[in-house]
Amino acid sequence: MSPGAVYIHVPFCLHRCGYCDFTLVANRDQLIPQYLSALKNELSTVHSVTPVNTMFIGGGTPTHLSASELEELFAMIFEKFQLATGAEFSIEANPDGLTDDRLHVLQAAGVNRISLGVQSFDEQVLKVLERRHTPNDASSAIERCADHFRSVSLDLIFGVPSQSMESWSRTLDHALHLPIQHISTYGLTYEQGTAFFRREQNGILRRTPDETERDMFICAIDSIQAAGFEHYEVSNFARPDHQCRHNLTYWRAEEYFAFGPGAARYLNGVRTTNCRSVPKWLQSWTRGESCIQEREQLSSEDRSREAIMLGLRMRTGLNLASFEETYHCSVESLEPESYGRHLEKGLLEISNGFLRLTREGLMIADTVVSDFL
Ligand code: SF4
Repeated sequence: MSPGAVYIHVPFCLHRCGYCDFTLVANRDQLIPQYLSALKNELSTVHSVTPVNTMFIGGGTPTHLSASELEELFAMIFEKFQLATGAEFSIEANPDGLTDDRLHVLQAAGVNRISLGVQSFDEQVLKVLERRHTPNDASSAIERCADHFRSVSLDLIFGVPSQSMESWSRTLDHALHLPIQHISTYGLTYEQGTAFFRREQNGILRRTPDETERDMFICAIDSIQAAGFEHYEVSNFARPDHQCRHNLTYWRAEEYFAFGPGAARYLNGVRTTNCRSVPKWLQSWTRGESCIQEREQLSSEDRSREAIMLGLRMRTGLNLASFEETYHCSVESLEPESYGRHLEKGLLEISNGFLRLTREGLMIADTVVSDFL
């Protein structure tokens, strides 16, 4: 059976924010025409028109492309992928630059879900994060998106240097009074190679203490849930019927197509990741040559371990009976030590046949789930 999900990576931004380690180039718009023709070559590896239930255009900032470039992008994607009836079509965007002509192109193409990189409604926090928009830009972009798309999602960051608990709580409160259906919220990370990592090493930026970050996460969980959103994945909250179906594909360890620099796909039990250097990917695919950086054939044990790790990220957890039926082993037999230890420490629990993170386990979710890899 063909995967029902496709991801397209658009690697352009106006500026690289100091904390960002995504695959992208900043302020190199002259490369956009070459990107579009290279992507067309990569897409030509799909031999027949394939129906999909979810399509996700991520970046970078896909809406950094002009309205006509977006039209060109969608036309080449639709030559190879067709949205099934009721499909989810998501795109990532920043609040600045969402012009009316871009919004109309997105809507005409069938985009029904937009994920906005808002990050904060506090001017000072946005400055620290080097974001180019103001809180007002974000609010008005959300109001305009609500007129065009079924689902509007916001990304919000906590644990930013200079961000107080009051500021975080005001950001959440402001967000929850806007017409949105989905929130993704993350603690700030200092990834090696980023400007923030260097500044933190040099003592210019101070990390938020773990205790404060934990309180901020708890504050987010409690206030977003109280506003009627379901906490359905460690970092994700949705109003009923607005969960991100594309990301659920990943967490359910299902297969998916992916195209563009740095994009990773999972097809026929094999994960391949395109090279993360945008210029290298461009050079290769301009010549019509594939540009794979990593290829991993997952053994049946790898597949079962990944399914545990991903399944535990969902708040419903992992259905133990379905897991055994699919992978012909139990979670306990695969990883007896971590399974026993996390249950005993109250980081995992079994509820109605599902193995799931407890509230305490959620606080160190990455550590708990990675013990099963
Ligand atoms: S706008 Fe988003 S993708 Fe672009 S550099 Fe900033 S954080 Fe990264």
